[in-house]
Amino acid sequence: MYATKDTKWNADYDVLVLGFGGAGGNAARFAADAGAHVLLVDAAPFGHEGGNTRYSAQHVAMATDYAKINKYFKRLAAPFQIPEKMMDVYTDGIYHMTDMFKEHFGIDAFVWSRDVKPGDILDEKEHMAEYPEYEGSEAFDFALVHNRDFDAEFWKTIRKTVLDRKEQIDVWLNSRASHLLQDPETGAVVGAVVNRNHKDYYIHARNGVVLATGGFENNPVMQQNYLHITKLTPFGSLYNRGDGVTMAEEVGAKLWHMSNYESLGVVPSYTFQEEEGQRGRQIGHWKLLYNGSIFAIADDGSRFMKEDAKFRHGHIYEHGDYLMPHAYDNAWLVFDQKQYDRFVAEKEQTGQLRYPKFLDKTISAASSQELAEKMGVPADKLAETIKTFNAFAESGRDAEFGREAAGMEAFASGQLYAIKLAPAVLNTQGGPERNEKGEILDANDQVIPHLYGAGELGGICANRYQGGGNLAECLIFGKISGTNAASVKDDAQAVSLTKPVPAVNDLVDGERMDNIELGENQYLGSTEAGIGGKIVVRVTYKDEKIEDVEVLESHETEGIGAVAIKELPAKIVAANSTEIDAVSGASTTTRALEEAVNKAIEQAK
Ligand SMILES: Cc1cc2nc3c(=O)[nH]c(=O)nc-3n(C[C@H](O)[C@H](O)[C@H](O)COP(=O)(O)OP(=O)(O)OC[C@H]3O[C@@H](n4cnc5c(N)ncnc54)[C@H](O)[C@@H]3O)c2cc1C
Repeated sequence: MYATKDTKWNADYDVLVLGFGGAGGNAARFAADAGAHVLLVDAAPFGHEGGNTRYSAQHVAMATDYAKINKYFKRLAAPFQIPEKMMDVYTDGIYHMTDMFKEHFGIDAFVWSRDVKPGDILDEKEHMAEYPEYEGSEAFDFALVHNRDFDAEFWKTIRKTVLDRKEQIDVWLNSRASHLLQDPETGAVVGAVVNRNHKDYYIHARNGVVLATGGFENNPVMQQNYLHITKLTPFGSLYNRGDGVTMAEEVGAKLWHMSNYESLGVVPSYTFQEEEGQRGRQIGHWKLLYNGSIFAIADDGSRFMKEDAKFRHGHIYEHGDYLMPHAYDNAWLVFDQKQYDRFVAEKEQTGQLRYPKFLDKTISAASSQELAEKMGVPADKLAETIKTFNAFAESGRDAEFGREAAGMEAFASGQLYAIKLAPAVLNTQGGPERNEKGEILDANDQVIPHLYGAGELGGICANRYQGGGNLAECLIFGKISGTNAASVKDDAQAVSLTKPVPAVNDLVDGERMDNIELGENQYLGSTEAGIGGKIVVRVTYKDEKIEDVEVLESHETEGIGAVAIKELPAKIVAANSTEIDAVSGASTTTRALEEAVNKAIEQAK
């Protein structure tokens, strides 16, 4: 979308960062440290910002030797080409990762190979590298912020650096960017359109825009176009919908690594199917799923993988390389009564299965014919698959996939069971290509002025993935892109504002709400529906009586909505109801305040 002289700008910043995950958070922080006034926006509401970074294992790639790690990462990418300078900057960042932790976060990194001791929560590993057979892999290690993982601690560290800079960084949550705004003559990206409270705001950025909106883990159409997959179930954020890809395309960016994604799974790259809009569950090493009278089938009722394969971010060994198993639409785990009884026994022993919904989600049938009908797979093929599996189990050799013979047990006659699987994704890697300065390139390899990228959107990983590489990239390119976006540009322009938005920091406000004290019979309510966005109230409510309404936060227009905010609480208390007449000229504010009060009262009931 072009910015013209008629564009009505609502806010003007030095730097605009789109996406508040690890990459965007770090970019905003370093832009602020370079002197910029920054707006950081995220599509998710308070408490859900942080994207995949929040849900990640929190493992960050680090290395003990530059030459070796450079060689290792080149080998991971081979035979694909990554521009030399790009690879050098990335691996140099990995080599200096513990310095980054210390210098910029004040943290002495917990180094996996050095600091994990027997009996710790984290397991000792035989190899740190995922591809230990490659040259240079011995230099690879993981840096963590402390001695635990999967606890969002790395994310919280980045989030805190943003909160600590609240004078320089405004944060808008629940605010989804939809278009980049480009100067029609120079092609420079001078801002973006951000939708907040159902209204589009035109945000001007004088020196740079950083695209860090994560991947397309929740965009089935992009998955169909780029990955040849109908739909993936995300393990991480539900808000990464490929918007950054679309926005980048709109300004002519070149896309790369679009066909690359990572996974884990209960069996390689699959998890249990969830209801629409739910995150998938990652459960590692649950032996009952691939050991015993149980196997996985695809759409045609036949087995399609070595269920017990050791996988590398979902990729399994195939003809000399590691590849993702095909993502089938109708995959299932099928098992017999003996195996079902083992799940029941495990539940009795442990109190709860590792996937608590497992038994509820299991379907059963008295025959393979009936089970096949329930699953929607060809019955004759399923019967044949059971027969073949039994023959392999009895002969002690899985001639099809090479599954461990000791872990295969023939099906007994009797009741059969199945549970639906779904192909799963940790993160995609594709997006706009960037160079070693974090600048996004166009289709002719020319820099798109003022546009930068960071994180998994257009990540460096072209081929095989090494765990820890994505978070490292958030730190390395977050810093580079944030700093470069903040550098004052010769063609930077000031703009005049129309209907300027009041300064808001949803992160600070959200934190404040988390810290609000509540006395007896007091309840909090909030809404985003005010003219200025958020309104927070504390309501004292007892025996069906509204005793007090305090407005703790509001950003309504001075002289109009702000007047209503002053008058309405007393009216609501007097009427003991939120059904009151709107203050003249401030009906939106009135309705929003009513909504916030109603939400508080609902909690009392
Ligand atoms: C379960 C899990 C475990 C993982 N473990 C590791 C690990 O240990 N080590 C590792 O290196 N990698 C790991 N990864 C991958 C890694 O977490 C991600 O690749 C990385 O966090 C991506 O960071 P990001 O900032 O680029 O994107 P994200 O952290 O996903 O942030 C993107 C943000 O952009 C926002 N957004 C999206 N669209 C818009 C829009 N239109 N406007 C505004 N905002 C928008 C989203 O709400 C989101 O908050 C893991 C991933 C998962 C899911």
